[in-house]
Amino acid sequence: MGFIKSRIENFMLASKILHDLQEQTKALPEHLVNINQNTPTNRADVIIIGSGITAAAVARSVLLESRRLGVSRRVVVLESRTLCSGATGRSGGQIQGSPHEQFDDLRRSVGFAHAASIIRFQISQIQELAKLCAAEKWDIADFREVETVDFYLTDEERDAAFEKAKTAKRYVPELAFRMWHGEDARRYFGGNRNIRGAVSYLAATISPFRFVSCVWKSLLSQYPFFLYMKTNATVVSVQTPVSKDHGYEVITTHETFKCDHVVHATNAFAGELIPGLRGKLTGILGTMTALRPSGRFPNVNGRRSWVVSYGHGYDTATERPTTGRRSGDIIDDSRLEPLQLAHLHGILPALFAFYRAEELDGWRTKRMWSGVMGMTGDLLPFVGRLDTSLTYRSPGVYYDNLQTVQPSEWISAGYCGKGMAWAWLCGTSVGIRIAGTENEDAPPYPGRPAGPLRHWLPHGLEPTLERLEKADLGNLVHRFF
Ligand SMILES: Cc1cc2nc3c(=O)[nH]c(=O)nc-3n(C[C@H](O)[C@H](O)[C@H](O)COP(=O)(O)OP(=O)(O)OC[C@H]3O[C@@H](n4cnc5c(N)ncnc54)[C@H](O)[C@@H]3O)c2cc1C
Repeated sequence: MGFIKSRIENFMLASKILHDLQEQTKALPEHLVNINQNTPTNRADVIIIGSGITAAAVARSVLLESRRLGVSRRVVVLESRTLCSGATGRSGGQIQGSPHEQFDDLRRSVGFAHAASIIRFQISQIQELAKLCAAEKWDIADFREVETVDFYLTDEERDAAFEKAKTAKRYVPELAFRMWHGEDARRYFGGNRNIRGAVSYLAATISPFRFVSCVWKSLLSQYPFFLYMKTNATVVSVQTPVSKDHGYEVITTHETFKCDHVVHATNAFAGELIPGLRGKLTGILGTMTALRPSGRFPNVNGRRSWVVSYGHGYDTATERPTTGRRSGDIIDDSRLEPLQLAHLHGILPALFAFYRAEELDGWRTKRMWSGVMGMTGDLLPFVGRLDTSLTYRSPGVYYDNLQTVQPSEWISAGYCGKGMAWAWLCGTSVGIRIAGTENEDAPPYPGRPAGPLRHWLPHGLEPTLERLEKADLGNLVHRFF
């Protein structure tokens, strides 16, 4: 009997691995990585620059909203490197880490009520991503709701964090925090006496590269005549056209496109094509390592993620499940910061080893890479229509027809290291505005909340001139040092 049971288990394990491999092969976007589709003409309705999570969200909402209205719109995506090779392909994939810390930052800059609406928006992004991955059966995107724990390494920082969590909960009661003093935290989460306390809550993780690949793959199969993608196509300039029959000319290293709408989904690089954002949006380098843990590091099979907070800085860690392990979706970058690497290599052993040499021995850095995060001077993303005084160019045409959304340049960028909590719904909102449905009481569909935009998009994200005046990058010096 035992023999039969074990054979059945072995068979089930073998078929699961086979199934995982088949799923992986189906979802692995080898043919997409360097995709270069010919467009029927060089005229598009919407050009999206970039191919990360923001670009995917914009494209999806333009195409879905247009289909809902029965309108045909051609979308062309231009990516300077390989598909999804920017921050999205390098991200840790933690969604909404440290909401109490974020709430505290936000309430100082925008007030309590606005801060609460932003945190709620991020919670709704988690819900929409969950619904979308479930509806489309994108298991490979590895979306998981996880218990997330923030560790504090001094009593002062722990006590301050408890206060922040209590305040955040008063304004956003749906945030369920648990607060842990040193001994309790160490007993429950593992770790040594360097951990002085913890705040835990429910958040989520995702594999951003796989998720975005699923979106592109699905859109390409649903809209073969309306979506075209080109990688290795750097946009070198956007210009006002000479002729008055379209909005803009978008010039790449190889060709020129005509279109009515240009979307800058270029994250930290947005300032290159939008001169007015220089000094308001910049990039900072983030470093990632894949570690093989050792010693008493708790194996919870991917159900937990960690944040280590100190002062104005933090590290995050997620665990991949032991089953269904997959690799190969990280694009290496050439630039690595040695001090960041040394820190990352050491921080987890410093918290989870108990100072016996053999415990420290087993930790091994398996891979390391870096990527650029887009930071804005007021720590909020720029989402919406770009004023012509920021782009230094006007569209070639304005339509008389009030039903048509006027040709414009748009942006969704600068998520300040928290793109997984912002980018999907921000990008979706831009697509909805281009489609002209922002005021409609629209039905929900997975990945998009119901109702008019103003019901779910926090206000104050538009890159208005008034806002930009106060969003100087100089603020960050004051903020972080
Ligand atoms: C190392 C690292 C770890 C991170 N971890 C987390 C995390 O755990 N949780 C979290 O919430 N956020 C995290 N982030 C932030 C998050 O990854 C980003 O905010 C998010 O991926 C931004 O997505 P995006 O689509 O706007 O930009 P990107 O993914 O950067 O895409 C922009 C694309 O535009 C392309 N591009 C730029 N200029 C041009 C041009 N002129 N022509 C054509 N194409 C162009 C780039 O090649 C790039 O592919 C992390 C970021 C980094 C770098």
